[in-house]
Amino acid sequence: MSRKQIRILDTVSIDRIAAGEVIERPASVVKELIENSLDAGASKIHVTIVEGGTTSISVEDDGHGIPFRELPLVFERHATSKIVSAADIVQVESFGFRGEAMASIASVSRCTVTSRSQDEDIGGMMRVCGGATERREPASRNRGTTILVEDLFFNTPARRKYLKTSAAEKKAITNVVTSIAMAYPEIRFQLTADTAPVLDLLAADSLPARVKDLLGGPASEHLSRFEAEEGGIAVGGLASRPTWTRPNRIQQFIFINRRPVKSPLLSQAIATAYKEVIPPGRHPVVILFLQIPFGEVDINVHPAKTEVRLMLERTVFSLINSALRDGLNLRELTPLTDITRPDSPSLDSINEAQNDYLKRHFTSKYSAPDSNSVQPGLFDSNPDSSVAPSQASSEVSQLRSAPFWQLHRTYICTQIKGALVIIDQHNSHERILYNEAQASIEEGSFAIPIQQLLFPVHLELSPAQVQTFQSNQTQLQALGFVAEAFGGQSIIVQGIPSSVKNWSEGQLLLDILDDLSETDQSSNADSNDLLASFACHGAIRAGQLLTIPEMQNLVDKLFATDIPLSCPHGRPTLIQFTIEDLEKRFGRR
Ligand code: ADP
Ligand code: MG
Repeated sequence: MSRKQIRILDTVSIDRIAAGEVIERPASVVKELIENSLDAGASKIHVTIVEGGTTSISVEDDGHGIPFRELPLVFERHATSKIVSAADIVQVESFGFRGEAMASIASVSRCTVTSRSQDEDIGGMMRVCGGATERREPASRNRGTTILVEDLFFNTPARRKYLKTSAAEKKAITNVVTSIAMAYPEIRFQLTADTAPVLDLLAADSLPARVKDLLGGPASEHLSRFEAEEGGIAVGGLASRPTWTRPNRIQQFIFINRRPVKSPLLSQAIATAYKEVIPPGRHPVVILFLQIPFGEVDINVHPAKTEVRLMLERTVFSLINSALRDGLNLRELTPLTDITRPDSPSLDSINEAQNDYLKRHFTSKYSAPDSNSVQPGLFDSNPDSSVAPSQASSEVSQLRSAPFWQLHRTYICTQIKGALVIIDQHNSHERILYNEAQASIEEGSFAIPIQQLLFPVHLELSPAQVQTFQSNQTQLQALGFVAEAFGGQSIIVQGIPSSVKNWSEGQLLLDILDDLSETDQSSNADSNDLLASFACHGAIRAGQLLTIPEMQNLVDKLFATDIPLSCPHGRPTLIQFTIEDLEKRFGRR
């Protein structure tokens, strides 16, 4: 590239470059606008979006408003009403103070501000398109401000091209409003998308009341309070008891001085507190507020202010850890490692437990127990839907008469011709479910056997889960979930796939929705994500006791799949020791 003379960029270019740092997508606009409303002391905030905010975003508040003569300053870079000098920065308690957001937003959209200050009788409006002022004139309005942002990124086509689908942007906006609303229960929030209400949160007098609206019924029923204080630092909030966990951290909300933040350190403190009492790969629901003197936290590390740097890291870490352990009584629970530790239950007690289970299972469900002809329990196969036999079927027939032994409630030991095999019960069930579901979805055959629930289950979803449910409803149906919207944020489930082992009163479906929500934020969830999530959460877990017929059925079905040797994530389903291996080890060869 040939060298050009060094020049200072014009303000339009500077604004657009800066916009790239602060305004990444419609959700970042919504975040900045709501923060300005909060700084203006609003008690009501109404967000309205069209097509995921890509067509328009409007945020209306009843805050103190902007005087008419100051309207042009709103769009000036480094113009702020929140600090006067550099010395104020250390003590700043408002969300904004850089005076950058409005200038950035207006440089990449058509932006209209309508406002009336509490000190003036008549309001005003000002419109700026791509950074250039179009109009400023008096306008009537109640006290407060409305900011309308249309055609975001209309003049930066490369950025516009990278926007996700409207549904994905809408969900990201829902998540932004959800997390801010969590920290301000006393403020009324509304979110309307394409004329339909997504959130309508009345001012609440406490955090639990607000949380119920935001996380849905089931999660909020499993929360307990926690709090602790030390040396001017206070932590507190709500967290789920270890009996209620999630597949990811979507339902973990962390606030520092009421500001939603992402902090690997604080997430780690949460994980450490629960480490011994919840299974690996699962996460508690946590709403954590950290109140910390303003001088001890640097919120300026990231332009969008979502990452923070904390001083006193160690104090904060141990404070959170002990607040959670005390508040949730985690110290008094038996660590999971003790329950599944290899040497804890004696072989006899496992044997007994297995027999017991077998007896109970048979007498309650079947009058004549016959392990060779009936395959009881949740693996009951439907004759019409059995998986097509493959080349592996010769191995299956060898297995028919083979003994089965469940080792540490995790592995199934059995023999095939010329070898001893050890099968991972979770990985192999995952493979079976994945293949069954894939066939059902791809062939559109709806071949999966369905088990009607005796009592239909109502599930109260979070707003984000509602959106994920709506956009994946057909595929969920193909998987065997008979579920439909039931007014407001709830759905009713009438039937589930027969082969799933972990329905847990609906937690399975919530797990799948949260998994899809997470992938959705970066790209659109495809049917592979759905299948993998279904297989992973629907499969029997390590630690679950299996009957002999259940083990036999699992192994039969595993060998009938086309890829019996690995689970959908690529982990092995089984390992084998051939007779030659054994002979070598014992010095017979
Ligand atoms: P900052 O929030 O960092 O001060 P912004 O660019 O976000 O900078 O906003 C610039 C200024 O516009 C604010 O300092 C504030 O005076 C004014 N402003 C923006 N939105 C509102 C609003 N909703 N209500 C009142 N004043 C507002
Ligand atoms: Mg601001």
